[in-house]
Amino acid sequence: WLRTFKYAELVGDERVKSMKAKHKSQAEILYQLGYGFRRLHKNAPGGIYECNNKCSCNKQTCSNRVVQNGIIAQLQLFKTVGRGWGVRTLHDLPLGTFISIYSGEIFTSEQADARGKKIGDEYQADLDFFENINNDSDDEEDEDENSEIHSELDNDEDEENKIPSSNIESRSLRSRDLNNKKDRKKSSKSKPNKKDKNSTLNRTLLPDYDGVVYTLDAKLVGNVGRYFNHSCSPNIAVQNVFVDTHDIHFPWIGFFTTKTIRAGTEL
Ligand SMILES: [Zn+2]
Repeated sequence: WLRTFKYAELVGDERVKSMKAKHKSQAEILYQLGYGFRRLHKNAPGGIYECNNKCSCNKQTCSNRVVQNGIIAQLQLFKTVGRGWGVRTLHDLPLGTFISIYSGEIFTSEQADARGKKIGDEYQADLDFFENINNDSDDEEDEDENSEIHSELDNDEDEENKIPSSNIESRSLRSRDLNNKKDRKKSSKSKPNKKDKNSTLNRTLLPDYDGVVYTLDAKLVGNVGRYFNHSCSPNIAVQNVFVDTHDIHFPWIGFFTTKTIRAGTEL
């Protein structure tokens, strides 16, 4: 929890600033930043740091262990009409429910580019959440969500197909088809006020920031996360979560619901 707080502070998370201004205690701020009853109510631009075996908490009851516990929601892979495979929930999901991570093989960006040219990059996602912090490009955007923001964040990348993930911090997923570029919102949704936030976030304040970005590729090895389709009105968003390492290069990409979702709905 403390690390989640520290990083939120480091990147200039507006929620921390405003709560500090209101003289909220650290405990109150922490409660707002991380998970609440194992649900993520708001995206955390600085990342979420889950408890691990070095923590003294009870593994079974600790509420700061969500993504590491794996998929709990009952999901169903199904054939959509015209959009390939999709994933839907078999029961209602409250806002902030952890759905799944996006898993794949990790490559350096050079390896990923070479691989993309060879077998396609539609399942690649950059682990670059810190690159998206303080990206001014989003300042102008608003749209209901931040969908566009992401696209801008990708500037550095060559391709337009990438789909930025939702939050500033989240990494961008390259969209499966070029047509979908816009949908990146999927992940972006979670942060409502990103504009303001972004303008004050600063990645260079991260102690371990070095500009190196790794890429996750689910083309050959992955999980159910690779089957989520892009949507213009996404109901899930990405949150970077640190589970097995605190190295900012290797967050886990977690998908969480951004609204209440009825059973049978595609995610
Ligand atoms: Zn704990």
